[in-house]
Amino acid sequence: MSDGEDEELVFHDEVELEDFEYDEDLEAYTYPCPCGDQFIITEEELEAGEEVATCPSCSLIVRVIYDKEQFERDAQETKNKEAAKKAIKEEA
Ligand SMILES: [Zn+2]
Repeated sequence: MSDGEDEELVFHDEVELEDFEYDEDLEAYTYPCPCGDQFIITEEELEAGEEVATCPSCSLIVRVIYDKEQFERDAQETKNKEAAKKAIKEEA
């Protein structure tokens, strides 16, 4: 009946967000890939609820384990802090 629509993602591994490294330039989290490159997932993707980190050099993917609600809270906090910083600057 179906013609291959149920393609399932096969994760190379499941990695906790804590084990990823944050790259400030990329605004993304990275984790070493066995191919020598690294898996990457951006902050934006995480905020959107994405949980698949991909490697640009090979076809491997890993599932990112994280607490979405906690992440949203932290992201919001960071934004608030930045807004507060800006407000201080504008006052000066
Ligand atoms: Zn790779």
